[in-house]
Amino acid sequence: ATMPPLLSAIANAGRHGVLVKSAVVMERLGQVDAVALDKTGTLTEGSPRVTDVRPLPGSGLEEDELLTLAAAAERPSEHPLAGAVVEAARERGLGLPDAADFTSAPGVGVTAVVGGRTVAVGAPARLLDDPPGTAAELEESGRTAVLVVVDGTPAGLLGIADRLRPDAAATVASLATLTGTAPVLLTGDNPRAAAHLAAEAGIDDVRAGLLPQDKLAAVQEMERAGRKVLVVGDGVNDAPALAAAHAGIAMGRAGSDLALETADAVVVRDELAAVPATVALSRRARRLVV
Ligand code: ADP
Ligand code: MG
Repeated sequence: ATMPPLLSAIANAGRHGVLVKSAVVMERLGQVDAVALDKTGTLTEGSPRVTDVRPLPGSGLEEDELLTLAAAAERPSEHPLAGAVVEAARERGLGLPDAADFTSAPGVGVTAVVGGRTVAVGAPARLLDDPPGTAAELEESGRTAVLVVVDGTPAGLLGIADRLRPDAAATVASLATLTGTAPVLLTGDNPRAAAHLAAEAGIDDVRAGLLPQDKLAAVQEMERAGRKVLVVGDGVNDAPALAAAHAGIAMGRAGSDLALETADAVVVRDELAAVPATVALSRRARRLVV
């Protein structure tokens, strides 16, 4: 027997490195007319690197001490930024003490007790009403500033840089052509770093500083306006939006387990260009079905 078109399309998507979970999903992917993209790990490579380690004046901490506390607190986290902090500590040959009482808040950061000290690591604007000027300075250059708070006192900042994926701009352009609508960027990161990166990727519509529920609300609003939205994301913070969207695709390599489980499809081979390719495959299959 010849394979039904949607099943052939799933097999073809597999050849592009995309795991589509069902024929229903394969069909929905071709119906989307709007796209919302996550930033960290989706438009960017998701292999961020620590570029700056800056203890705050008066913290009494050396660079290595600051990095040790931050990395120990971040070690249990699966966030790409956490990986960067742990890797930076490893590169400097720093031994990491065990952390206790780890908690993480998607889109905000983490807390843990390290050597009897309570350490919080996360978005400066989420941890403090009035973040230090160094944070804005790092963000102006397109970096993500991460604040480290020790026993309730701001102790230092880390600057983290991630590269745009090489196929990001081309992917944004093909998605715009396929859907007839310019993709929007939904990110938990700060507006300055987000604007910097969006410009490089060719995205005009940027919504930054979003918590997971804000990403969800943005997608729901687009759906209420009659759009069939494709969400592409990788993080725990993207899961509610992935679940609510007409179709959701997760980036698999650095993606969180929750995002991979929630999404309708997973990009297994680490290429963003596989997203428009899969939408195009669905369109073709649907033309054969109907
Ligand atoms: P995005 O939407 O771009 O993927 P997230 O919502 O995952 O970003 O994160 C938003 C912001 O929250 C980050 O830019 C960072 O400032 C902060 N954050 C989240 N998780 C962590 C973490 N584990 N360590 C440090 N900062 C974090
Ligand atoms: Mg992300």
